[in-house]
Parts: sequence; C-alpha cells; structure tokens
Amino acid sequence: MKQSQLFTKTQKFAPKDEVSKNAQLLIRAGFVHKEMAGVYGFLPLGWRVMNNIMQIIREEMNDIGGQELKLTALQSKEVWSKTNRWSDEIVDNWFKSELKNGTKVGLAFTHEEAITGLMKSFVASYKDLPFSAYQFQTKFRNESRAKSGIMRGREFIMKDLYSFSRTQEEHDIFYGKAKDAYVRIFDRLGIGEETYLTFASGGTFSKYSHEFQTVCDAGEDIIYVDKEKGIAVNEEVYNDEVLADLELDKNNLVKEKAAEAGNIFSLGTKFSDAFDLTYRDENEQEQKVIMGSYGLGPARAMGIITELLADENGLVWPENVAPFKVHLINIGEDEKTEEIYSQLQDAGVEVLWDDRDMRPGAKFADADLIGCPYRVVVSSRSLEAGGVELKKRTDKDGQIVNVDKLIEQIK
Ligand code: ATP
Ligand code: MG
Repeated sequence: MKQSQLFTKTQKFAPKDEVSKNAQLLIRAGFVHKEMAGVYGFLPLGWRVMNNIMQIIREEMNDIGGQELKLTALQSKEVWSKTNRWSDEIVDNWFKSELKNGTKVGLAFTHEEAITGLMKSFVASYKDLPFSAYQFQTKFRNESRAKSGIMRGREFIMKDLYSFSRTQEEHDIFYGKAKDAYVRIFDRLGIGEETYLTFASGGTFSKYSHEFQTVCDAGEDIIYVDKEKGIAVNEEVYNDEVLADLELDKNNLVKEKAAEAGNIFSLGTKFSDAFDLTYRDENEQEQKVIMGSYGLGPARAMGIITELLADENGLVWPENVAPFKVHLINIGEDEKTEEIYSQLQDAGVEVLWDDRDMRPGAKFADADLIGCPYRVVVSSRSLEAGGVELKKRTDKDGQIVNVDKLIEQIK
C-alpha cells in the first residue's frame, strides 16, 4: 500500500486523558481511535494487526477441532435468568436495555448461557459428542476501571470457545489440547517467553482454572512465578493450602505484575445443570454434558505486545502480527522505488511504501513509530553503494543489500 493513500496520519501527541502506554502509542501511530474511555475503534493499520492476531488464534482453534460460529451480542433476559446471572447484584457490569414493547434485553458480557441453550437443539445422543465451538464476538462490560487502554475495553472482541464432552476424562483430554494450543498462540504472537501458565481459582467443579499471564508493568494482576518450572500462581490462590500438589518451591517464587492474556476453565455440569443439557448414553441413560470455556482477548494481546516490545521511538511488531512486513522509503529515486515496490509485492511481501514528498527525517520517524519489522530505504546514496539500505526495526544500523538479494533476505 502507498502511504500517500492511507487516510490516517501519525500524531505528535496522544489525547491528554489517555494514560495507558499502549493506547497512547497506538493512537499516535494511527492504529486506534479513542471513542471514549474504554471504547476504541481500530483503523486500517490497527485492524490489519487485529486480523493477524485473530487468524493465528483461529488456526490454532481449528487445529484442535473447534468449529467457528457467531452468536448474537443481543440477549434475552430469560436465558440469563436460568443461571441467576441477569441480576445486577450478581453481575455488576451489565449493559442492559429494552425493546419498544418493554421486553428486557442485555448486551452479552460472555456466552456460556447462550451457547448452552442453543446446544439443547443439537445434542441428544452420545454420538453427538464431543465437540467444541468458538467465535470472535464483541462483548460489552461496564468495567469500572478503564485505565489500561485497549487491554481493558468496555466493548471488546473476545475469542471464546466452549467444549462439550461426555465424561470428565474426555473433557480433560480436550482441556489439555486447548492448553497446548494457547501456548502455541502466545509463542506465535511473540510473547510466549514472558507468558506463564498460571494456576488460578477454579470454582465449583475444579480445583484450579488456568490463566495465561504475561509479565508486564501494565498488568493488573499479581502472580508468583516459578521460573525453573515455567509456571506461576495467581495471588488469589497464593495462600491456599490447594497449592501443595503443585510442588512449588515457595522460597523461589518471584512476585510479578502480569496481564491475563487468556484463560481456560473447566465448567463441569454448572451450565448443563441449569439448562438441562443432557445426552443419552450407550445404555439409554440420560447424562449431563461436561463443559469447558476458553477465553482470549485479541485486543488485550495487541496491547500486551505493544507494552512489552515498544521502545522510545514507537511500536515494534513481531513479524507474525505486523501490519506490513516492510516499510519502503524513498528519498528521490521514484522510478527505481516503484520497481522495487512491485517486485516485493509480486513476491508476496506485504509492503507499505512511504511515497510522500516529505523530509527523510520525518519519514524515518514515522517508520519507527509505526513499527514494521523491516525498513528499506532507496536513495541515490544507497544505489551508488550497490543497492538499498535494509534495517530491522530492532537494529540500530542498516546494511546495503543488492536489490536482487533483498527479497531473499527478507523472506
Ligand atoms: P479480567 O480478569 O482481566 O477482568 P476476566 O477474568 O473477566 O478478565 P474473561 O471474562 O474470562 O476474563 O475473558 C477472557 C479473556 O478476554 C481474558 O483472558 C482477556 O484476554 C480478555 N478480556 C477480558 N476482559 C477484557 C476487556 N475488558 N478488554 C479486553 N479484553 C478483555
Ligand atoms: Mg480474570
């Protein structure tokens, strides 16, 4: 894409009321628009990053057998009354409204109720199980704290997967696969090393749930990390006697601030009890379906990546999620650059070409702020030296590369 065509522009300053580092940088770079506190829109560059993140999540969910669907954000009161979660005393972050005829509706903050109710139409026999389904869906939560930029939105996309199994053993097998898929997702997003499988409180049906907590200053949680074992415990269970089985050396745990990038949860029969979601087993006996839920916020992941990797000059995107792989900049030499631009595109390299008539310094500053992994500069000086200047966003200096070798080097 030619940068002269991009309607967004970089800005020197973020809005005065924006306190989070991730939103400040993403707004300045033109990735995100702040509609109001905790409510952010995604602009072309930001939406490309979001789509890359969602695609990685989608591939991993498909890989463990998840089937993608899309439920509704608008929900009826009846469904939620089955689990007593319509009540404002029980759930305090509801956005509710009503239809013209007075019928109460809510904007879903999660979808366990909706999907359990739906599955009553499809699950009857043991032959219908096991399976899992997921969606990328907008959730609405009237969060009281909205100081973490896109990491805590009042309206945000969540990937939520729900699993339906016949037995606890069958559930445990799927749960293990989901856990492994999450590890792969955070590796592919470039935050795997800082992200710890974290034991958190489990609820009625299991001792623990698992969170994927990324150590980062902007996080709102406190975890205790066992670096040797590569796992952590959430502060909320740190003092529980539930912990002996983890065999953690409590003297070696390191206290860290962390952001919950994702979580997975065994639900047992909590929801299938409420909705009477049953199947008929091989002996013609009615049995309750065992469920699990698996959440992950792509915008929270994007915020975490920003917080962890950005430097004093701007954003730094890992190759897998970058809006473009190459930021091509020309200083004069329009024709030669047009040629290189075409060659890169023909080779399938995603490239943003800064074709604007601007000072080189301003173009370089914008490239640093936007944060594509590779910067390629074409100038009379580089051509005289034998090619173009190739520089990684994370390197200080570039090197001259022969134009014929450029694609090879980047790929
Ligand atoms: P938290 O503890 O941070 O409030 P949660 O435990 O309520 O989150 P879930 O409801 O299980 O989280 O949501 C699943 C995932 O969705 C979280 O792990 C996180 O990645 C993401 N998420 C949750 N709340 C938000 C939010 N307000 N904005 C963006 N992403 C969110
Ligand atoms: Mg949580």
